[in-house]
Amino acid sequence: MSIKLYNTLTCRTEELIPGGERMDSPEQYPPVTIYSCGPTVYGPAHIGNFRTYIFNDLLRRYLKFRGYRVNHAMNITDVDDKTIAGSSKEGISLREYTDRYTATFFDDLKTLGIEPVEHNPRATESIDAMIDIIARLNKKGLVYEKEGSLYFSISKYPRYGRLSRVDSREIKSGLRYDTDEYEKDDIRDFALWKGAGPDEVGWDTPFGRGRPGWHIECSAMVRKIFGTTIDIHTGGVDLIFPHHENEIAQSEGAYDEPFVRHWVHWEHLLVDGAKMSKSKGNFYLLRDLTEKGHSPRSVRYLLMSAHYRKQLNFTIEGLRQAESALGRIDNLIVRLKDIRRDGPGNAELPAMIEDLFSRFCESVDDDLNISRGLADFFDFLHGVNGLIDGDAISMADANLVMDVLKRIDTVFGFIFFGEAAPEADVPWIEDMIRRRQEAKKARDFARADSIREELSSKGIILEDTKDGTRWKQKT
Ligand code: AMP
Ligand code: ZN
Repeated sequence: MSIKLYNTLTCRTEELIPGGERMDSPEQYPPVTIYSCGPTVYGPAHIGNFRTYIFNDLLRRYLKFRGYRVNHAMNITDVDDKTIAGSSKEGISLREYTDRYTATFFDDLKTLGIEPVEHNPRATESIDAMIDIIARLNKKGLVYEKEGSLYFSISKYPRYGRLSRVDSREIKSGLRYDTDEYEKDDIRDFALWKGAGPDEVGWDTPFGRGRPGWHIECSAMVRKIFGTTIDIHTGGVDLIFPHHENEIAQSEGAYDEPFVRHWVHWEHLLVDGAKMSKSKGNFYLLRDLTEKGHSPRSVRYLLMSAHYRKQLNFTIEGLRQAESALGRIDNLIVRLKDIRRDGPGNAELPAMIEDLFSRFCESVDDDLNISRGLADFFDFLHGVNGLIDGDAISMADANLVMDVLKRIDTVFGFIFFGEAAPEADVPWIEDMIRRRQEAKKARDFARADSIREELSSKGIILEDTKDGTRWKQKT
């Protein structure tokens, strides 16, 4: 079996063949080259954005789990109208301003258990690569100048529009174009380079002082890091048009080779049926949720749990359900840790484990179907609980299951989440347990669950017995 991904460019689910040449096993392939559009750092990202970054993380983790190597870049857009406006409003340099939000962004990634990627290029450090692309496009007659800015001329590039299949109606209405760039010859054209005065943020180039358009930044960073066609390019569905369409036009126009083999687009996180977005104001920041006692671990679980090509409606109730699903996993760990029986292993268990991994791989190989993979995993949990109920499991078996959890968690990243609690913090743990008991007595079960979840995300799991609540370290 090989991994298949839906490709927005071809509208088909296609086998992933890193480097374009088929090999016998994942290890033989060159590293899978992935480029993910990253944040514009003018404020903290909201959890809608993080659904996108969590899927980037799931993709790379799953590829590694299946034996592929990855070479992954996610950029930081650190120059655009919003970052320039923000820094000038505060009277600080663009770099100082974007450094602040870049740091916030990386903190949030860490909080959500998102792995660092191999490259995090900043747009402002790739100006040389942008100059190269624009010079090549210019030689081919695809660029024109108007009032100090350079534009890509779409009428001279007949291959435009293959990714988004924008129909002519939309093109005529201009609804989805930058209609405030009045100088353009054609409403569809887009700015490659925006002229800037001597006192404005800008770089001196052979074609004058200015700053990059947004689209050229990503084309340049891909070229600078990977040098040729890449395997996978990802982003949220809102980037298909015009951003990714324009990236293709620039990169293929300049270098005459395919830009990307697989275009993968993550669906949106919604709130009350509408896309979560800064401009609508209907967003949650990660800290809005953690301050209310929800764990980053449950946010990770929730954002990842629905298929990436389906929209997900965010609700607090959804977070509670995530907490309760995580509670079931933690409960199993407690039970496994309690097993004291020596003796021969259970005869059924090895086949159950094999079945789990073969079903899980079949599910997730199929266009990253993590919701089905999660169902496979919970079926396995159910089976193991059944064995424990029948006292049919030894200590060696329990260790085997713990190893399964650790292995599958290299993909999920929400089972063994966060750091183990320091030994010395027993009073804090006991205090939390007492508060949880009080919450339960007051029938505030949501609060009780969120206390349990907070402990769990620090590596402490609880077991309710008839003699009271006991706690254990997860690993
Ligand atoms: P931005 O900082 O607005 O450029 O967005 C950064 C990334 O988050 C892009 O890949 C967007 O497609 C993605 N994104 C924005 N809003 C949402 C949302 N509500 N759900 C999922 N992804 C989103
Ligand atoms: Zn981009």
